[in-house]
Amino acid sequence: MKHLTRRSFSSLTTKGVIGTALFGSIALAKGFTTGQDNKKLGIALVGLGSYSTYQLAPSLLETEHCYLAGIVTGTKEKQAIWSNKYNIPKKNIYNYENFDTIVKNDDIDIIYVVLPNSMHKDFCISAAKAGKHVICEKPMAVSVEECDAIINACKENNVKLGVGYRMQSDPCTHEVKKYVKEKTFGDVLFVSSDAGYVSNGNPDQWRLNKSLSGGGALMNMGVYAIQTSIYGVGQNPISVSAQEFSIRPDYFKDTDETITAQFKFANGAVAQMMTSHNANGNRLKVHCSKGWFELDPAHSYGPISGRTSNGNTIEFPFKKQQALQMDDFAKHVLLNTENIAPGEMGKRDMIIVEAIYKSILEGGKEQELSLGNLGIVS
Ligand code: NAD
Repeated sequence: MKHLTRRSFSSLTTKGVIGTALFGSIALAKGFTTGQDNKKLGIALVGLGSYSTYQLAPSLLETEHCYLAGIVTGTKEKQAIWSNKYNIPKKNIYNYENFDTIVKNDDIDIIYVVLPNSMHKDFCISAAKAGKHVICEKPMAVSVEECDAIINACKENNVKLGVGYRMQSDPCTHEVKKYVKEKTFGDVLFVSSDAGYVSNGNPDQWRLNKSLSGGGALMNMGVYAIQTSIYGVGQNPISVSAQEFSIRPDYFKDTDETITAQFKFANGAVAQMMTSHNANGNRLKVHCSKGWFELDPAHSYGPISGRTSNGNTIEFPFKKQQALQMDDFAKHVLLNTENIAPGEMGKRDMIIVEAIYKSILEGGKEQELSLGNLGIVS
């Protein structure tokens, strides 16, 4: 851990984040005390691919409650580059073989797993066993069973678990949730959500290899469309039907190219989502009884923005979503604030992913879902 500046600490207090009730044992146990002796949590990134390099590490220069303390990489050349660029001491640099020894390193409070999807489970479990809090990139794993294994390991080792759902920390998402909750535009009747891009890269990349990715567009951008469908309605769906399409089967040999799915909700609302590795999509539109609102762009790194049927725009001053997300998790660890992307949310989305694949296998048959409020946060 390292020191928070007095400015960042006072911004926490003025936002009312540190109430007397919250400023309890967890904060004190982490050395988060009053005055100048305030700490930032140390994060170690596991896997220094494009997301860590271009999004997470730069965002960690903007975070107020955590910082880049360590790295875990299988590529020796990256060690010196990252060490120089981010001032990371040699003792905080690990490879996949000596990763388990991170247990002894007090500089590392949180391990953030940013590896291909099928590797999330083992590294998250090792991180939990090392007594470190865990952030797992999305999709949380490649099956519901693996999500359960990660959740259980974190519970058994008494560490906190978050999923890398950056959109949950974006102020536009909070605004959408507020409209839905307060019925600003009446009852939600229909939601449409698209999340996709055109993939033309190396056909041998891990995202197109099912054993590493667990699936194609659905496992990648699809989880965002599932998420927007859910917070667009404000509750979990009770059933899903899905279809798969491919017009480039030579390229998408092993993974899904384009998937559409329809969700039914207990309140009568319906949602339609599209995700693709061969069509662009980046939109959420919520149709209500007294108007509508939309985000377009809705799923990219930002700034995202939108508009409403009463002529207003939805936009906020830009701050990197990943910085907001990692600070939200650090505050959850330090101050026991709400975990806004808990493991249960990642598991809920994987239950839906599995139901979508099952529906496709069964020719689009409607699949019932018994999710209750799993993964719903305020
Ligand atoms: P990437 O291919 O750029 O990086 C993958 C990293 O894993 C590399 O450092 C690579 O060396 C390492 N690796 C270790 N074993 C590997 C193996 N067998 N095959 C391939 N790579 C291996 O991928 P990325 O875009 O950084 O994605 C990593 C994770 O982050 C994925 O789970 C992805 O879904 C997630 N991600 C999330 C977002 C988001 O918006 N939240 C965005 C991008 C990626």
